[in-house]
Amino acid sequence: MKNMKAVVYKGDGIIRLEDRPIPDIQKDTDALVKVTLTTICSSDIHIKHGAVPRARKNIILGHEFVGEVVRVGHDVKKIRPADRVAVNVETFCGKCYFCKRGYVNNCTDKYGGWALGCRIDGGQAEYVRIPFADNCLTKIPDSVSDEAALFTGDLLSTGYWAAKMADIRLSDTVAVIGAGPAGIAVMKCVGLYNPSRIIGIDIDDSRLELLRKNRIADVVLNPLRDDVEKVVRDMTEGRGADSVLEVAGSKESFETAWRIARPNAVVGVVAMYEEDQVLPLPSMYGKNLTFKTGGVDASNCEEILRLIENGKLDTECMITHRTTLDHIMEAYQIFENKEDGMIKCAVRV
Ligand SMILES: [Zn+2]
Ligand SMILES: [Zn+2]
Repeated sequence: MKNMKAVVYKGDGIIRLEDRPIPDIQKDTDALVKVTLTTICSSDIHIKHGAVPRARKNIILGHEFVGEVVRVGHDVKKIRPADRVAVNVETFCGKCYFCKRGYVNNCTDKYGGWALGCRIDGGQAEYVRIPFADNCLTKIPDSVSDEAALFTGDLLSTGYWAAKMADIRLSDTVAVIGAGPAGIAVMKCVGLYNPSRIIGIDIDDSRLELLRKNRIADVVLNPLRDDVEKVVRDMTEGRGADSVLEVAGSKESFETAWRIARPNAVVGVVAMYEEDQVLPLPSMYGKNLTFKTGGVDASNCEEILRLIENGKLDTECMITHRTTLDHIMEAYQIFENKEDGMIKCAVRV
């Protein structure tokens, strides 16, 4: 059996580039995909830190990538060999109680929900087996490049889902806390709803500059310098933001989220926390907030790719670095330590 290069989670804070056997399809609904472009997600760092209890040791990491189909099982109908495809972060059966209602994150199949690069081998590798290929692979339109499509299945799926759950109306003020990769993807998708104002909040000025330069947010605030709650209230006649999406994942950002929300707002908690957070109900009594929590139901890749194809959604500004799979461990180092202004690194395989 031939070998390939793959990034493997070894447990105890260790990940390593190793040789692994090339996988093959196991079920008639599987596809084998040759990965062409992959990337590192902050969830990979959460796995490394042991903050994802369901992540298995010796699993190949990677859940955000695009590739080319090599082989498909007998029951795969929509996807053919040689198709260029975007891959859903979540694989799902499409038949269980939750899938039928669109809640694919909660798919009850053994391979359902966020399994790739967590419970089953993922796409920081030369090849990957994809279960439920018809549900979880989406053909990339010819005019869309690998780089333009790279974030379809994870970051943009998250942004798409988050913007939808925020119940945004025309002329609303929407605050997004966190201007890392997920925050940017969320703001980009919030923009599709044409709110009157997107407020981007982060403690990193270089990230705020990226928001400003690329017109991703209308207003940028740094909590280390700005009184965020006061500024948001001043901008909204004392009310607060109509919707808040919390994508930063710290104790402070969680508190900011409900503080800057106006009464009866939706507070969408998109971030993945590494520790418990407190809901101080007495302090927020009477605000009548609706909290919605993560993770993403990644089942809108077709819509997302159509938006990319038509120039409505463009996240290539997030690719600040490029490398190859041989050098991915260096990219991990830079990504984890947020060095060199890295937002996302596109890793050519
Ligand atoms: Zn991810
Ligand atoms: Zn299911």
